[in-house]
Amino acid sequence: MTKEQTKLILKQLHESKIKQLNELSPEEIERKRLTTRITTHTLRYLSEYFVEKGFEWIMPVILSKATDPLWPDPDFSIEKRIEIEIYGETVRTTHSMIVHKQVLVSLLAPRIFIFSPNIRIEKRERLNTGIHGYEFTQLDFEIRGASSADVRKFVEELLREYIAFLRARFSSELKELGTYDLLSFSIPFKVMDSREAEEKYGEKWPDILREELKEPLWIVNIPREFYDYEDEATGVWDNYDLYVPRVGEILSGARREYKYDKIVSKMKRDGVPLENYKVLLSLAKEGRLLPSAGAGIGVERLLLWVTGIEHIGELQLFPRVPGIVLEL
Ligand code: AMP
Ligand code: MG
Repeated sequence: MTKEQTKLILKQLHESKIKQLNELSPEEIERKRLTTRITTHTLRYLSEYFVEKGFEWIMPVILSKATDPLWPDPDFSIEKRIEIEIYGETVRTTHSMIVHKQVLVSLLAPRIFIFSPNIRIEKRERLNTGIHGYEFTQLDFEIRGASSADVRKFVEELLREYIAFLRARFSSELKELGTYDLLSFSIPFKVMDSREAEEKYGEKWPDILREELKEPLWIVNIPREFYDYEDEATGVWDNYDLYVPRVGEILSGARREYKYDKIVSKMKRDGVPLENYKVLLSLAKEGRLLPSAGAGIGVERLLLWVTGIEHIGELQLFPRVPGIVLEL
């Protein structure tokens, strides 16, 4: 890092409200308590919702050979990939459990979900986006045989019911936080092709959407990793991101690739090492990898939306934000 960059980071840290718990004033602690309460009931509500809809609740993996390459993705900004050697093998900290989800939904159960801790060493310049942590949690789920439309509808209903629950149960808290009136929307959400978003708002369309949106919006057809379904004839990707006002992207998902030849050719095209994905590839080769669709919801980003907190480092009890390593 250059001196200039170091100076900038220190200035940003000084100006930011990112502090450790022991540095907070009693009023700030009180606010943390409020948002922790909403977090508690969010986690309980969402897990019950999935269980009641017939999903199996999976425990997360942290170290594996087969984590998400996160590449190619227009949102890619990884400063460092963590690889360590254990028992003579190279493993990686979880970027996402996408590959594990595809294996589970094929072999174990038709509907699964996980609260999956992800470690992504985001570039330091992302400190001030307010929506990037180097550790965060995805509520990751996958449904065997589902279409993209099925998943989008599922998410719309989930959010409608979750927000209705919060507004009913925590109206005074949401009013205190200032979000009570901001969370109204109708479903189904509008849908926009990513190319249209770019034409309309330019290259920085994700940032502009964050500022301009009044209601959630689906962005579809985003060229990215091998596991999202791409129509070879048309070049159209059957995937989707959900954008919400002020926060921007809170979910990414897709219908998945499951055919061996297609996965291999996309991995080769993208320079993704095939040897990291042996189980996925052997299942696909044997025809045992089943069609599915799913998504991952960024839990912290969902909470930023409902609480109105501006920076993920203010929401996380132990801030994990790009460029800053705290003592705790
Ligand atoms: P992805 O599949 O990479 O889009 O990740 C799934 C979801 O996780 C995103 O839609 C975000 O809500 C969330 N997410 C991704 N990266 C981060 C990050 N660095 N910090 C916090 N949340 C993130
Ligand atoms: Mg994404």
